[in-house]
Order: sequence, then structure tokens, then C-alpha cells
Amino acid sequence: MPVRSSWYQVKPSDYSGYGFDRGHHCPSADRNGSVADNSATFLMSNMMPQAPNNNQQTCANLEEYTRSLVDAGQEVYVICGSYGKGGTGSMGYQTTIAGGKVTVPARCWKVVVVLPTGSNDVSRITANTRVIAINTPNDNAVSSSWGNYRTSVDAIEAASGLDLLSALPLSVQNMVEAKTDTGPSN
Ligand code: MN
Ligand code: MN
Repeated sequence: MPVRSSWYQVKPSDYSGYGFDRGHHCPSADRNGSVADNSATFLMSNMMPQAPNNNQQTCANLEEYTRSLVDAGQEVYVICGSYGKGGTGSMGYQTTIAGGKVTVPARCWKVVVVLPTGSNDVSRITANTRVIAINTPNDNAVSSSWGNYRTSVDAIEAASGLDLLSALPLSVQNMVEAKTDTGPSN
């Protein structure tokens, strides 16, 4: 990834003293195939200032649940991100950290597409494919139950301005993105 020399490079210590975790986008535990893969998850470009309970409970529980699906023979595609400005960590509300150089997001979201292990994945995704989407407040008062924050991919697209699952034909996107998961959540 090209880095402009004028861009500030965020340091781990920039997160100190604000009450937010260095929240991984891609979890360390999802990249344990090699030391290099795992180390890459600790790059600061994989971090967001995340309320500790959101990071360590809500999101961690979904990540653990997702790994249990993989252990049970599924493969998953996980997409995540954040948007908005202003969150409440363990020391209160902040809009930025690192002296204004890092925005504290207002919302943290994840989308998980679940498929039986196999090949030609795009062509196997149908209206019946399980797609879990959550959109959580970056607030330490968040519930630890990720299932409470389920929503549709369309709602995340509308809020974030992104087009997710864009490799799928539009007809399939329209079907899987409109629904909200009602499956088990632990
Ligand atoms: Mn859509
Ligand atoms: Mn889309």
C-alpha cells in the first residue's frame, strides 16, 4: 500500500489514555496460519478506536461464533468497518484520539456470509444463503449480545455509503442484502 510521507503514521501509544481499545478489524485469531499473517493483524492500519466492551464482548462474541461455524464445516466471508464520528469508551465520549489525528467512529459493523465449504463461491450464493449483518454503537454501554444488533446489509450500505457484496449479481445482492438474520447467535 503506498504511503504518503506527509501522512501521519499512527503509533500504538497514540491510543493510550483515551479509554478505547486498539480494536482489530481483522481479528488476530482469524489469521493464525502463519506468523507473518498473524503479525499483519497488529499493523495500526487494522485498528480502530473501539469501546472496550464493544471490542472485547460484542464483536469478540460474533467473531467467536463465526469461528465456530468454520469449525463446523462452513466457510465464511467477513467484511467489517466503521463510520460516523464520536464514541464513548471507558473514559467517556471522544470524537478523536491521538491529538485529533484518529477519528473515533460512531458505529462498528460486520457482515458475515456463511457457505458450506466448497468452490465457485459467488455462484453458490442464493436468496437462502445465511448473511449475518450487525451494526453496533461504539459505546461502552453496548450489549454483549451481538444478536441484538442484527440488521440488513442494505441498511449498512445506506448508512456507510458503501456497496457491499458487489461481486454478486444485482439480483442476488437485492435478495441477500434486504434480509435480517434470525438464526442462532451463540
Ligand atoms: Mn444493496
Ligand atoms: Mn451491495
